[in-house]
Amino acid sequence: MKTRIAPTPSGYLHLGNVLSFSVTAGLAKRAGIKIVLRIDDLDRDRVRTEYVKDIFDTLNFLEIPWDEGPRNYQEYKEEFSQVHRLELYNAVLEQLREDEQLFACDCTRTQVNIASSDGIYPGTCECRSLSLDQKEVSWRLHTAENRKLVVKTMEGPVTSGLPDQMRSFVVKKKDGFPAYQLASLVDDQHFGVDVIVRGKDLWDSTLAQMYLGALLPGNTFYDNLFHHHVLLTDETNGKLSKSDGATSVQSLRKAGKAPAEVFGMIGRMLEIAEPVSTYRELALAVERMGRDD
Ligand SMILES: [Zn+2]
Repeated sequence: MKTRIAPTPSGYLHLGNVLSFSVTAGLAKRAGIKIVLRIDDLDRDRVRTEYVKDIFDTLNFLEIPWDEGPRNYQEYKEEFSQVHRLELYNAVLEQLREDEQLFACDCTRTQVNIASSDGIYPGTCECRSLSLDQKEVSWRLHTAENRKLVVKTMEGPVTSGLPDQMRSFVVKKKDGFPAYQLASLVDDQHFGVDVIVRGKDLWDSTLAQMYLGALLPGNTFYDNLFHHHVLLTDETNGKLSKSDGATSVQSLRKAGKAPAEVFGMIGRMLEIAEPVSTYRELALAVERMGRDD
């Protein structure tokens, strides 16, 4: 079995990322599952070299291990960047196109928000028959509302439809690069990942990827085992984000904090009673919290 750590280099990593890596690595080590490091770098406008380097610095500093994928910036650049797998993603996009699963959309986010107060795509372009070859269009999927998806979670199977937020979700962005849902799905299949550990905020993405996987012959994403873990929140109960500089691992490291102190901070933020000083202890404590829910 194989799992992955899949950070996005669009900012310095923060304590929320560390929590996710810890839960993944803790679970993997106990179950004898291999870990792939995958750097999700298709948000080309936001990717920066220093953010990619920060991923290696952070994992090494915190002694969170991985078995496959780049060991350093150079290996990432030469071999493992998602840019090297564009052909793979584009082949899947072409297949979806041939199967008439797609439509072109030129809506801006502002237009979507005006047309729909909850931000859910109102289907504006679904019947407009814009050309998929036109510039500055995204490619969206025709999604059926009543399709049932069964997610195998560590707590047992969960059945759900595609959430409204994912209606006609984007598979290719206006900049021509594949969207997250498609690239992540294709990569998991490519690397043979079959255990996916991610935050609860990605539950809708899991469903979107399950939906997409079912459209692709030979795709076994539906067979993967999932675990969606608790999230760290800031004082106002918002999700921690990369803009919160105070919780970046880099700033803590520069302030002289030891790894044990970083794990301890996360433990306190989650109100875990026992002291936490390694990723394994953190993973175990989080798992116990989940059972008490
Ligand atoms: Zn549109």
